[in-house]
Amino acid sequence: MNEQGVLVIVSGFSGAGKGTLVKELMNKYPDQYALSISVTTRRPREGELHGNDYFFVSQEEFQEMISKDELIEYAQYVDNYYGTPKKYVYEKMKEGKDVILEIEIQGALKVKEKYQDAILLFVTPPNAIELKNRLVGRGTEDMNTVVKRFKRGCEEAEGIENYDYLVVNDKLEDCVSKVHSIIQNEHSKAFRN
Ligand code: 5GP
Repeated sequence: MNEQGVLVIVSGFSGAGKGTLVKELMNKYPDQYALSISVTTRRPREGELHGNDYFFVSQEEFQEMISKDELIEYAQYVDNYYGTPKKYVYEKMKEGKDVILEIEIQGALKVKEKYQDAILLFVTPPNAIELKNRLVGRGTEDMNTVVKRFKRGCEEAEGIENYDYLVVNDKLEDCVSKVHSIIQNEHSKAFRN
């Protein structure tokens, strides 16, 4: 039996509700999942805390982490860099937890190259209008950034065939259950093999 946890990668449009989804998954199943906290050169949004939402670092600190080989993957997204620190992920997987990485597509594909049994999920809002409403409505970015993020989302959607599952985030509760059962199902497949 594979007692090591698996990597669960959650990607999707900016505004798809990925953050809320993974937090809810963590709240509901704290014994099964661990959530990786990324490092980023982006400035914190109102209410975001260092070590809770991200580790907010300077460009220099980010470069240093790359040169010390401390990141599993990293990528540029719109105007900033984002990366996944190795240490926490490896520790939690060894403990048998499934580690959730909420990352964009370039990073997701790099992780899949290294870990073929990583589960790749692409989360989408139910339709384009809902996507626009969520992205604009949250009011955390200026319009220029919203447009850049929307364009980036469309580019990411072109890589959707690389993902194992497409999950529609219509109602949060349903989406959490869907994602949890996908992961349970993947575990039992691994067990059968
Ligand atoms: P946001 O600025 O909205 O928090 O994140 C922007 C994008 O960066 C999102 O698509 C998010 O999933 C992605 N992201 C967050 N952390 C990481 C990371 O460690 N690596 C990569 N490749 N993408 C990340």
